[in-house]
Amino acid sequence: MLTAKDIHKSFGELEVLKGVDLHVSPQEVVVLVGVSGSGKSTLLRCFNFLEMINSGEIIIDGKSVNSKKDNLSKIRAEVGMVFQHFNLFPHKTVLENIIEAPMMVKKKKKEEAMIHAKKLLEKVGLSDKADVYPNKLSGGQKQRVAIARSLAMEPKVMLFDEPTSALDPELVSEVLGVMRQLAQEGMTMVVVTHEMRFAREVADRIVMIDEGQIIESADPKTFFENPSQERTKQFIQLVG
Ligand code: ATP
Ligand code: MG
Repeated sequence: MLTAKDIHKSFGELEVLKGVDLHVSPQEVVVLVGVSGSGKSTLLRCFNFLEMINSGEIIIDGKSVNSKKDNLSKIRAEVGMVFQHFNLFPHKTVLENIIEAPMMVKKKKKEEAMIHAKKLLEKVGLSDKADVYPNKLSGGQKQRVAIARSLAMEPKVMLFDEPTSALDPELVSEVLGVMRQLAQEGMTMVVVTHEMRFAREVADRIVMIDEGQIIESADPKTFFENPSQERTKQFIQLVG
């Protein structure tokens, strides 16, 4: 579904991704971990072309993406992304936030977009908030709207970059609950998170990135109980 082949990414002199290979199968949930600065966000941003790779190849749903020739907004529609900060449009209601991209990018009719948006709001448990402005929502509710907004584009893959890191502790579980449900429904997902319980319970595979390279890739049980690399052991001790 999503493949990175030997991707390299530098910012000026700083090489952040040093030959990353990753294959995410359809319906697979991959949790990506690593210390701060190891390249997790950069890798996700390369996957939906918010950053352009210097070399290597990214293949989405069997198609190798050429960032110079292909329509990047179409590709971004196929690869949904949810960030730590929700970036909702403050002057649009929840419903308007969700229908914006399907109408603008996918040229969906308003009625059709609204029907879909309402279904998505129901999925994330926010049917009663359709006409509310984002500043009236809690952080957890905002993040659930951000997830619904991303899903409205009917992506093939969803990327999550620390979606719960900015939330008060009591709001984390409602967002993780929505993500868990998405995983159960078969969404292909790559999730950067520090929530190790979520990783243990929901991930099919945990991938550790260290200094821009993948050093460990294993099912959760193996990852936590029998990692192959010393750096992974250190990381596990750090995160508990
Ligand atoms: P964190 O856990 O803190 O979010 P991360 O693993 O997501 O870290 P990245 O954000 O991918 O790490 O950053 C990796 C390295 O690339 C860091 O050294 C960072 O300073 C650098 N970097 C990231 N984006 C840019 C940019 N746009 N310009 C220059 N350097 C960047
Ligand atoms: Mg990051």
